[in-house]
Amino acid sequence: MADVDLVLRSTRVITPEGTRAASVAVSGGTIVAVRDIDAAVPTHARVEDFGDDVLLPGLVDTHVHVNDPGRAEWEGFWTATRAAAAGGITTLVDMPLNSLPPTTSVDRLRTKQAVAAAKAHIDVGFWGGALPDNVKDLRPLHDAGVFGFKCFLSPSGVEEFHELNQEQLAVSMGEIAGFGGLLIVHAEDPHELAAASAAGKGGPRYADFLGTRPRVSENTAIEGLIALARRIGARVHVLHLSSSDALPLIAAAKREGVGVTVETCPHYLTLTAEEVPDGASEFKCCPPIREAANQDLLWQALADGTIDCVVTDHSPSTADLKTADFATAWGGISGLQLSLPAVWTAARARGHGLEDVARWMSTRTARLVGLEQKGAIEAGRDADFAVLAPDETFTVDPARLQHRNRVTAYAGKTLSGVVKSTWLRGQRIVSDGEFTAPAGRLLERKN
Ligand SMILES: [Zn+2]
Repeated sequence: MADVDLVLRSTRVITPEGTRAASVAVSGGTIVAVRDIDAAVPTHARVEDFGDDVLLPGLVDTHVHVNDPGRAEWEGFWTATRAAAAGGITTLVDMPLNSLPPTTSVDRLRTKQAVAAAKAHIDVGFWGGALPDNVKDLRPLHDAGVFGFKCFLSPSGVEEFHELNQEQLAVSMGEIAGFGGLLIVHAEDPHELAAASAAGKGGPRYADFLGTRPRVSENTAIEGLIALARRIGARVHVLHLSSSDALPLIAAAKREGVGVTVETCPHYLTLTAEEVPDGASEFKCCPPIREAANQDLLWQALADGTIDCVVTDHSPSTADLKTADFATAWGGISGLQLSLPAVWTAARARGHGLEDVARWMSTRTARLVGLEQKGAIEAGRDADFAVLAPDETFTVDPARLQHRNRVTAYAGKTLSGVVKSTWLRGQRIVSDGEFTAPAGRLLERKN
């Protein structure tokens, strides 16, 4: 036990083997042992005793739109990583779009990394983008350390990030599979969306908006994606699943051995279409928040493993773009700071434990992107932690949010689970709302 410089104690430490009273020994930012709570403390080690507060592995959020540079007025690395840290998240992977430039070539990746480097309060990695015209850039981006490639099958919402048609999807998927990469897909079928939009109408009613983003658009896109992944032998990941109708398809594909994984988001698990007030476009995202009955099935799929993980899809804009017309308002929900309490509040009501939440929001997401040093409290991993008071409640006050535009679908909700402090590689980066200077690192995919 040489050189242990920090020992963290809690009566409830979430480890891969379950919850136990333990002391976690840290050396140079890495966990070196998880021992009994009353184990002897090495000389010179500092002790932090959290009592009955829970020690969770720091969350790994693999779906975040930071938008910096280019649309930093929507969100930036400074504010996004502070919001994340305040919410117990210690690693985020940034989506390739909504920043200018988008992350679609190595030069552009370097531009984004340079912007993020000085502002990152937590560790930050990057996804690349797969566009119709950048197939030649995919391999170099992979070699430069992106964790995989995002594509859309329908319009993305910003004009510089074009969707792939079926032919282009096959080409990009084949290219990415050729070097063992991961393709992550916004799966809504453009033809189904066009048909629903033509028949539907805009305006402030949520039901009208929901009618323009029907489940069938997700189901059709996912069915096609699975068929293509099976044919090519590719690894694909379905982003932000909302339609529970697609679950049997996904479960069958997994049983068959198709390389498909699936995520869903806190807003699909904790908010329902029935509760969205007219004109409340802070609830707008695509695919949309659906009915309570749909949500029940998403929870079942999380419990049985059909859905692998939970990520925020934090995708803010300036407040003025969140107009009362659902058809034209910006689609995106800000979730970084509240994702852990929101999911925990709903999970415990359904009989799940914090072990489950840690698996969905840390272990599985770390595994998705191959971050072996993240995602669990065990020897050899980074000393990244969230300290949570699981029974304390709070009412969401937008003024207390750290993200740049304090628009939230959770305003006024009472949630369980207060993040007391967050630790990154053995350093406390936020405690009761007080932040240290940015200590995050830029992460790259390792082979
Ligand atoms: Zn997204």
